[in-house]
Amino acid sequence: MSEVVLDQLPVTRLKGVGTQLAMKLARLRIHSVQDLLFHLPIRYLDRTRITPIGALQPNSDVVIEGDIRGCDLAFGRRRSLICRVQDHTGIITLRFFHFSTAQRQNLARGGKLRCFGEVRAGSTGLEMYHPEYQFLDENPAKQPLQQHLTAVYPVAEGVNQQRLRTIIDQALALLSDRSLTEFLEQDNAAPSLGDAIKFLHQPPADAPLDLLASGEHPAQQRLAFEEMLAHQLSLLRLRQAIRQHRAPELKGDDTVLLEFLASLPFPLTNAQQRVSQEIKQDLEKPSPMLRLLQGDVGSGKTVVSAIAALQCVASGRQVALMAPTEILAEQHRNNFTRWLEPLGIQIAWLTGKVKGKARERQLAMIGTGDAQIAIGTHALFQDQVQFHGLGLIIIDEQHRFGVHQRLALRNKGQHGQIPHQLVMTATPIPRTLAMSAYADLDCSIIDELPPGRSPVSTVVISNQRRLEVVERVRNACAQGCQTYWVCTLIEESELLEAEAAEATADALHLLLPELPIGLIHGRLKPAEKAATMSAFKAGEIQLLVATTVIEVGVDVPNASLMVIENPERLGLAQLHQLRGRVGRGQAESYCVLLYSPPLSAAGSQRLAIMRQTHDGFQIAEKDLQLRGPGEVLGTRQTGDVMLHIADLQRDGHLLPEIRRTAEKLLTKSPDRVSAIIRRWLGETDHFSQV
Ligand code: ADP
Ligand code: MG
Repeated sequence: MSEVVLDQLPVTRLKGVGTQLAMKLARLRIHSVQDLLFHLPIRYLDRTRITPIGALQPNSDVVIEGDIRGCDLAFGRRRSLICRVQDHTGIITLRFFHFSTAQRQNLARGGKLRCFGEVRAGSTGLEMYHPEYQFLDENPAKQPLQQHLTAVYPVAEGVNQQRLRTIIDQALALLSDRSLTEFLEQDNAAPSLGDAIKFLHQPPADAPLDLLASGEHPAQQRLAFEEMLAHQLSLLRLRQAIRQHRAPELKGDDTVLLEFLASLPFPLTNAQQRVSQEIKQDLEKPSPMLRLLQGDVGSGKTVVSAIAALQCVASGRQVALMAPTEILAEQHRNNFTRWLEPLGIQIAWLTGKVKGKARERQLAMIGTGDAQIAIGTHALFQDQVQFHGLGLIIIDEQHRFGVHQRLALRNKGQHGQIPHQLVMTATPIPRTLAMSAYADLDCSIIDELPPGRSPVSTVVISNQRRLEVVERVRNACAQGCQTYWVCTLIEESELLEAEAAEATADALHLLLPELPIGLIHGRLKPAEKAATMSAFKAGEIQLLVATTVIEVGVDVPNASLMVIENPERLGLAQLHQLRGRVGRGQAESYCVLLYSPPLSAAGSQRLAIMRQTHDGFQIAEKDLQLRGPGEVLGTRQTGDVMLHIADLQRDGHLLPEIRRTAEKLLTKSPDRVSAIIRRWLGETDHFSQV
């Protein structure tokens, strides 16, 4: 029978699974028998052999057998039941903090026990806490040991290991009759899907535990491949669906563009020219562009996005530019206004905070097309906003818009056409992450910084030397430089962070009374933030105390010193992003990482990386290694790359092959594509949400 049966067979068809248990299993995302088979162990116990008590080592998981030599209550810090078990090599204590009267009576009666559990060093020597145990009959042959390694599964409340093992055993029995459909071409070296699954639930006693623990066993790799393939297919199919729509061909006359380029105080870098060309060609096509623009902090992505915007405007279409925060949106607005209004282009402004009459005015400008460019936050994509021939959406992403938000934007086009999409990321994304989380996008990379940037010298200093750092700020400012002082807090509380920044600003004010000091944090009104930022830009404020709200995008070339408090609490990409706020002008720039001792080994390793490298791509790779994809991409997008078996860091090398396989399947066997996606992603498939 085909897989359809297993994947449509509800778990309630298994013995001992009622609606109660089914509901609990659903919490583990297990609905069908197939789901059970794909619920894989996180580790294994070796219960295939008995360890002599005399040979036990602390912190090992073992099976022992021995005779009960006594059973008593012990009254230490906590009351416990202790039971001594002896074989011909030694004696060990079993300890139970919770036990029933029946249990105590049974153990007190004596007899021969087999126990499973972890050995640890306790107050009586080696002990086992709460081992699983069984009494052995006269005839041990009736109670054989396990033939294979014992799986330890992820569990949920009300579904314990024992229970899971029993029902997965039943599922495995079904597997042998009705094997799972093999979607991949059989590679002789790799195990079949069914074999891989069987192996992973019940590895033979001599299976290589080290390979299994590191996830590198061929059976695991077989599944990791298919899992990553499913994600890849889901995104590629989404891309395919979007690409089937028509998009406006943006082929305008480039007079305005040339005028714009001539007005810039600098020539474009080669990299900027190259990616602008890539974008231009996409925009001229009748199918929607789906492009990711990557570039290190300060590489000049904004100009590139303005060039794309101009091409769209020149062909009579509207542009929407969306940023994740007010501050960032504001900055784009300032740049675009400065650059493009002299060329006769009108810019509308829409965020959640634009209200009442002002909002109506902006909405009208967008709706009539009087504004050729609309800039704002996600407020731009609420339902009331009616665009006027939207041709291009630019998203400055800063890790915050997931695939789903990207999808929501599609619907804003007109006449059956959908807009082109340009996604800019604020920090570089490691290649493997880009290949997985952004598989639906083509990628352009600005791999060159504008000339004349000198790398920011980074020093790591303990905050016990805070006063020296304050002196440093005094000296730098005395020479006309500007300084950022960034306060960070571990709690995700804007309020606490704001308070910390206020306290720091007050303290610095006392220490540096001669300096004009500004304060910026997330609790200020947008107008206040904007006023402070523009005063800082104008040089009226010399020392800007800020929370991480300044992380993204802020651009003040005269700022050449940045102090970051508690840098050990931040991710590397975020630190890199912050540090990128300095080193934008001619002056030699410095970043002081002011940590709170003691620094953990990992913490000091991370700060050392910041000292050693300025390459955003390298830093992003390190961040991925140290913190994993969820942290690197931001929580919103974690769902987009939720892998259960595969690990991007470990299995990323498979991606090129996976990509080839995915493309082949999409053209040759679309029916398989759906089945693979359903097997691995179920309702989290991106396409199903289109
Ligand atoms: P990011 O890629 O981090 O968004 P921005 O677009 O904010 O970088 O650009 C950083 C700074 O570099 C801005 O002040 C911008 O005007 C400037 N810039 C951009 N391109 C060039 C260039 N080709 N030559 C010199 N300066 C440039
Ligand atoms: Mg930027």
